[in-house]
Amino acid sequence: MTDCNDLCNKLKIESTEINIYEKAKEYAVDYIKNIDSRCVNPTDKAIEDLSYFIEDFPENGTKTLEILRLLNEYGSPATIAQTGGRYFGFVNGGAIPAALATKWIADVWDQNAALNVMSPVASILEDICERWIVELLGLPHGTAAGFVSGSSAATLCGITAARNYLLKNKGYDVAKHGLFNAPPIRVVLSEEAHSTVFKALSILGLGSERIEKVKSDNQGRIDYTQVPPLDNNTLLILQAGNVNTGAFDNFDVLCKEANEKGAWVHIDGAFGLWAAASNEFSNLTKSLYLADSWSTDAHKTLNVPYDCGIILCKNRKALTDALQMEGSYIIYSEKRDNLLYTMEMSRRARGIELWAALKSLGKNGIKLLVDNLREKAWYFSEQLKNSGFEILNDVCFNQINVYVGDDNITQNIIQIIQKSGVCWCGGAKRAGKSFIRISVCSYKTTYDDIDMSVKAFVEARSKIYNI
Ligand SMILES: *Cc1c(COP(=O)(O)O)cnc(C)c1O
Repeated sequence: MTDCNDLCNKLKIESTEINIYEKAKEYAVDYIKNIDSRCVNPTDKAIEDLSYFIEDFPENGTKTLEILRLLNEYGSPATIAQTGGRYFGFVNGGAIPAALATKWIADVWDQNAALNVMSPVASILEDICERWIVELLGLPHGTAAGFVSGSSAATLCGITAARNYLLKNKGYDVAKHGLFNAPPIRVVLSEEAHSTVFKALSILGLGSERIEKVKSDNQGRIDYTQVPPLDNNTLLILQAGNVNTGAFDNFDVLCKEANEKGAWVHIDGAFGLWAAASNEFSNLTKSLYLADSWSTDAHKTLNVPYDCGIILCKNRKALTDALQMEGSYIIYSEKRDNLLYTMEMSRRARGIELWAALKSLGKNGIKLLVDNLREKAWYFSEQLKNSGFEILNDVCFNQINVYVGDDNITQNIIQIIQKSGVCWCGGAKRAGKSFIRISVCSYKTTYDDIDMSVKAFVEARSKIYNI
C-alpha cells in the first residue's frame, strides 16, 4: 500500500493543484463571457473535432491541465449554447448566476446529501428550500419536498407514494407483498400526458394499456367533461404545462371532484408549476393546491443548473413510507435526513444551489421571472404573426407552436434555423400537424434576441419557399 503522499507524488498532483483550479476557472469564465457571441448550435467543424476524444483507453494517465485543454479546445465548441439568450429548444432553462456560482462551491464541498450526519449544511438548506417552495407555490402547510435529478424521478416518487397509499387504503401493503396479488387500482390521465409519466407508470407496474386515457382539447388540456367517474381507488394525473402548448388542465373542477371522491391527484408541473408563484396566472393555477402531489423542475423555469427536480407531497408520511430504507450503519437524525424523500441514498447536494436561486431571486424575483417569460413569449409570437407565421396555440405561458407547412417543410426550416447558429428550436407534432416548437425559458432572453430569432425564421422560410 502506498500512502496518499506517495500516490500524490506519483500522480504529480500536488505541485500543480492550484493551477488546475485556476485554469478551470479561467476556461469557465471565458465561456460565460462569450456565450452570446457563440453559434447556438455547434458548427460542423466543432462536431468533426469531437473525434479528438476517440482513442483506445490509455495505459497511462494524462496531466489534468492537458485534460482541461482538450475539453476547452474540443469539448466547449461542441456544446449547445443553452445558457445564452437564444436557445428555445425543449424546455431547458438557463442558469442564473447565483445558482451557477453556488454550484461551483457546492462541487468543491462535494457533500453527500443523504444523511444529516453526512452533511448538516445540505440537510438544513434542503429543509429551507422545502419550506420556501411550499409557501411560494401556495401548497398546503407541511407539504414534504424531495430533491431529485428531474421531473422524471420526481414523478416516479410521487406515483410510488400514490400507489402505495391507495393500496394501503384497501388493506394491502404493496411494499411488503409486491404487486402480484395486489387489488387493482385505476390510473386516469390525459392522452397528452408527458412521456416520462408513462415511463414512471410502466416502471411501477401500473402498465400502459390498462390506463384510462382521456382525450384532450384543442389546446392539449385534459377534456374534463370526459374524465370517468373518480373513486378512492384512483390515481388521477394532471399537468400544469402541456409540454407542447404550455396549457394547464382544469384543476378547479378536477381536484375538487377528486377530493370529494378520495382519489389521489398528481400534477406534473415540470415547468408550469412555477406559474403558481405569480397571481398573473391565477386563472391557470386555481385550485392546484388541492392536489396530493406535484412534480417540478428547478432546472427549467427557475433557471437553476442541472440536475434539479422536486417532488412535493402533501402527505409527508405517504412519501417517506414509500421511499424508506433501513440499514444497520445508517444513522438517522432528529433533523432532516434527505434520503427519506428521494429514491437515491448518496447524491450531490443540489439543494445548495437551489437555495441560492431562491435566496437570490426572492418571491418577487421569481414572480418577475415567470411573468417575464410569458411577456417575452407573447412578444415572440406577435412578431412571428406580424411576419406572416401562423401560431397554433394560445400562448398562455412560455410555449409557442409555429406552423410553417407539412412535415417535410417543417423539418427543413428547423434545420436551416439550427444551422444558422442564431437560435435553436426543435419540432413536434400534435393533432396531425407538425410545427416548430419554441420554449421561452431563460432569464437571459432579451427582446433583441427575439428580434434576431424572428429574422432567422423569416430567412429560413424564404430559403424554402423562395420568397
Ligand atoms: C421536461 C418535462 C418532464 C421531464 O422532466 P425531466 O426533468 O427531463 O426529467 C416531464 N413533464 C413535462 C411536462 C416536462 O416538460
